[in-house]
Amino acid sequence: MATRVAINGFGTIGKRVADAVAAQADMEIVGVTKTGPSFGCELAVRRGFPLYCTSDDAGRVAAFSEGGYECAGGLSELLAAADVVVDCSPGKMGAENLTKYRKAGVKAVFQGGEPHALTGLSYSSSANHDANLGADATRVVSCNTTGLSRTLVPLWEACRSLAVECTMIRRAADPGDSGKGPINAIKPVLKVPSHHGPDLMTVRPEISINSLAVAVPTTIMHVHAIVATLPSGHGLTTDAAVELFRAQPRVIVMHGGDSRITTTAEVMEMARDIGRRWGDLHEIFVWEDGVKLVGDTLYYFQAIHQESDVVPENVDAIRALTGSEADWRASVAQTDAAIAAAHGSA
Ligand code: NAD
Repeated sequence: MATRVAINGFGTIGKRVADAVAAQADMEIVGVTKTGPSFGCELAVRRGFPLYCTSDDAGRVAAFSEGGYECAGGLSELLAAADVVVDCSPGKMGAENLTKYRKAGVKAVFQGGEPHALTGLSYSSSANHDANLGADATRVVSCNTTGLSRTLVPLWEACRSLAVECTMIRRAADPGDSGKGPINAIKPVLKVPSHHGPDLMTVRPEISINSLAVAVPTTIMHVHAIVATLPSGHGLTTDAAVELFRAQPRVIVMHGGDSRITTTAEVMEMARDIGRRWGDLHEIFVWEDGVKLVGDTLYYFQAIHQESDVVPENVDAIRALTGSEADWRASVAQTDAAIAAAHGSA
């Protein structure tokens, strides 16, 4: 029987996770929530996802029909029809929502805007799928941490020891956010180290890592500048490191000079060209000509599409919680093939 999945919060991440879940043969969307009638409800209607209210308040439920949308009920009614809820509410609402999910007896997947302490368990497909098998609740780590995990976990597995420093060059806002900035400044995150690097240790504590972050005026991607100290006798070369990254699922390695993809703008144009829905790129993009091993120090750049790299990870996290697929690579292959088939994309 297909896993019945509810999406609580149908915004930037929620609408993408709903789309990815709906593409899977072993899952179905039983409903998505909105706070009230708004343009975002239109997508749910077009996709045939039953629409529920984030609240059980009768007045708020009734407001949907006044706004021209059919609302199937409040959150409690949605949870009663679900096996797993994916919480895609704005960050820091998790504690209140977790209480509701536990009361309803529904397993829950949270997002990176929530702290690790909420569930005491975090998730990244390549890092710790097995540690999440059968759990009641987990948190898919943030877009940046997911990006770090995709390349640093295989590097750690090849070397068994890593000390990493990285600088996260962060997009100022998502394209749909009109109220955030900066629009003409570079803004250092004055919390050192930033939370990003240490967050990786919630899914792979063996990797020693610190990070700095700056926000820059762009809406389309993050870039990581990574400096990884490998143990002596690691046996890697620059070419071997490139091939290691190339062999990973959800990592794209391209030569910037040869492909003329030298900036994040061109990476995003490629995602649109190959037919990805919303112009998303679920993969982490590594510039081949930006990878260099000097002695025991590996330098590289990677780009992260902030709105979408976590999307397939949510699908894998659902399989981990239900215990329906114990092998992370098998889950990743199943998730990605189903999404590509549904989107008709490369
Ligand atoms: P968003 O603001 O685009 O969407 C949040 C949605 O939740 C909105 O539709 C909002 O109406 C709805 N909502 C409001 N109150 C709610 C409630 N009480 N219960 C349920 N839903 C409610 O936010 P987002 O960017 O999709 O972020 C969601 C989560 O994903 C956050 O934890 C965020 O940190 C994380 N995340 C975001 C990105 C990104 O780039 N946008 C990347 C990775 C992870």
